[in-house]
Amino acid sequence: MQGSSLKTLKQVRMYSIPVGDPRVSELITWYLRVLQRAIDVIWENIEWRYKFPRIERRKGRQVVVIPGKLKVPELPKSRAFKKRLRDKLLLDCPYARHWVDAVIRTAYSIMESWRKRYLKGRARKVKPGVRRRFARCKITLMKVDYEEKKIRIAVKPGEYIEVSWSSRWFTKRLEGWRVGEVILKDDRILIPFKSTRVIEVRDVVAWDSNELSLDGFSPGVGFIRVDLKPLQSMKITYERKKRVAQSKGLKDIYEKYVARERNRERDFINKLTSGLTRLLLNTIHVFENLDKEDLVSKKRVEKVRRKRNARTPWINIQKKISEKAIIIKVSPENTSRTCPRCGYVVKTRVGRVFKCPRCGFELDRQKLASVNIYLKYIKMRGFPHSYEPERTMMEELWVGVTLSGWSPVMWIPMKGILRAVKPRVEGLVLFDTKPYETRTPQYN
Ligand SMILES: [Zn+2]
Repeated sequence: MQGSSLKTLKQVRMYSIPVGDPRVSELITWYLRVLQRAIDVIWENIEWRYKFPRIERRKGRQVVVIPGKLKVPELPKSRAFKKRLRDKLLLDCPYARHWVDAVIRTAYSIMESWRKRYLKGRARKVKPGVRRRFARCKITLMKVDYEEKKIRIAVKPGEYIEVSWSSRWFTKRLEGWRVGEVILKDDRILIPFKSTRVIEVRDVVAWDSNELSLDGFSPGVGFIRVDLKPLQSMKITYERKKRVAQSKGLKDIYEKYVARERNRERDFINKLTSGLTRLLLNTIHVFENLDKEDLVSKKRVEKVRRKRNARTPWINIQKKISEKAIIIKVSPENTSRTCPRCGYVVKTRVGRVFKCPRCGFELDRQKLASVNIYLKYIKMRGFPHSYEPERTMMEELWVGVTLSGWSPVMWIPMKGILRAVKPRVEGLVLFDTKPYETRTPQYN
């Protein structure tokens, strides 16, 4: 990609602050009771309409929009209905009135997501129930003091809970960030911090996700191979440990291993993604769209791929990178069997080396997909498919993360042999030698 462009990077980071206030638990108990009541009322007022199959043209292809006759639920959304609901819930509300509005909004978002899943065949025709204990606040209930780094949450008229993020481990990294709507849990408050900034994009890197490596291609750097073996061997070790604990019926120990594995995985992903975003500054990261359902659905993915997909936390890697850089997703279709030079799609995928029967182009199969993912992005942006991959295809950069050490190790090929190098390329400091934060924000 030539030149640079400006893009807006929106970031949200969740941090949690412990609270020990019995009023929070009381509020949550009330909130959940009223939330379930709101869901009940909305559920009772759903209108079921018939919809029939429809065929639409999309991108020159015929697509069946609704597969067969289907009863579609329509949620009640009229003003009058919402007012009646609000009045009903306000009847025995000891809390600030805005809490009822917060409940109603949460009820609608739960119902909307149920409706979407239902229409895709992923949820049954069963009224959603609330199981997790939480209360989602509304911005109208909050007062944020950015000077003092304090949030005041209205509970009852004239009664408040205060939380401060002034002396937390994450305080420093949130200068200039805005506070979003907090979520109350029994023992902690989750605060989303948001930032919007304009960043300069100068380069693109496309990632192909494989079991043992992330294989990247960037016209500015060449091929980048990120070694995921330490992560896999760690996970295999824990799988064994968990199996043993399970067979002996040691539930506590099993749970301990589950937690440890999760922490080590998070640690790995944090180190990896901060390393990558520092290595590739001002870069858009392009990934294949790894829709969760597609990963486990039997139709789309072969069995082997499904199994390794279960082990490799790509979705978490993507998510973590998206917190630090701009990411774009493209469809994974045919990326491992298209010739990047002439666009020919081969039928079979055999051998280590891809060879195009039409133009003779050859490339290591492992690298092929990343080039094609890159090209998909370029085409999506409207650039023509005229590109000479050969120039940068000679270079390869190896990146690894050691689980025991503090900082990732970088590898670059030197005369055919791979040698560990100091994390420094062209005078650029790629990785800090300082220890990485190993704590990650908690999501509810
Ligand atoms: Zn070709």
